[in-house]
Amino acid sequence: MAQTIFERIIQREIPATIEYEDDEIIAIRDIAPSAQVHVLIIPKRVIASVDAVTGPDAELIGKVFIVARDLARKFGIDASGYRVVTNTNADAGQTVPHIHFHLLGGEPLGRMNSGTERSHTAPKSGIVRDAGLIVACALGLAITFNAMNPKSIPWIKKDYERITLDSSEINKYLAPTPQTPTTAPAQTLPSAEQTAPATTQPVGQTPQPAQQVQQSTPEQPKFVPAPGIVREITYAQFKAFLAAGPYYLIDARGAEKYAEGHIANAVNFYGGEAEARIPDMLQSVPKDRVILIYCDGGECELSHHVADVLKRFAYGPIFIYTGGWAEWTTKK
Ligand code: AMP
Repeated sequence: MAQTIFERIIQREIPATIEYEDDEIIAIRDIAPSAQVHVLIIPKRVIASVDAVTGPDAELIGKVFIVARDLARKFGIDASGYRVVTNTNADAGQTVPHIHFHLLGGEPLGRMNSGTERSHTAPKSGIVRDAGLIVACALGLAITFNAMNPKSIPWIKKDYERITLDSSEINKYLAPTPQTPTTAPAQTLPSAEQTAPATTQPVGQTPQPAQQVQQSTPEQPKFVPAPGIVREITYAQFKAFLAAGPYYLIDARGAEKYAEGHIANAVNFYGGEAEARIPDMLQSVPKDRVILIYCDGGECELSHHVADVLKRFAYGPIFIYTGGWAEWTTKK
């Protein structure tokens, strides 16, 4: 089936103003707003409409309402009021066959279907009440599930430090350093120490087996520690760090996506579980090399979750490749 416009936006083939993104959901500004605030909340999984929703989608659909609530707060329309609606098929005016929810607000929105002639006198208050109940249940379930889950997903978008690496600064982190013994906490790594340029790990291929941490040698001294430094980098800068080595590469996307394909030698630490995986990370991530992180690209929330944790434990320099998997796959 041909890709919908939303899939192409998710894959960064078409630009959009992204207001929220995580592994499962993206929220963008509607290109033709019907209200002062008009955001489309789009599950990334391709579901054609409400009519195609199945049991396993329940949690994802519940999460949509959490995202809607947080966005309403972000736009300051939570108190004044807002509407979350989804159109299904022709009569409702659905134009994109990829499920999405309109978050509308910032002004009085009028009656639910004020744009059309009502041809029947259905007990509207009952329908609205039932719809409200369903939404409230979904919301309640999603909040409860997340609160009880030790690996709870960081719903609310944190304001991370987003500083772009100035190209003139790149040598600062790659300049030769005197030969010193390594201070890496782990002697054995899953896979990520690497000096050769990375390529894409083909689908279904497992990461390389564990290798020994390389000691600093005069041939490979290109690491200048900068604890707590987090910078966002471009594709060209990412490639420069890959070529320079030594680095430790982290894929912050979910395990499913990582399994489908990832940049060669990347180790998977899902950003949504960054807090829960602190012990693993401290054990596996060495301190004697540049840390590179990527996720889907764009806002890079997942990468920032991981970077934030590592920063707290004095890792650095840490570089977030903002093009992420979406851009990387187009550059192959
Ligand atoms: P619906 O009619 O419920 O299927 O909603 C589709 C929505 O997608 C409409 O409100 C459009 O304005 C919006 N839309 C279509 N193309 C884009 C785009 N490229 N970027 C943002 N919103 C879009």
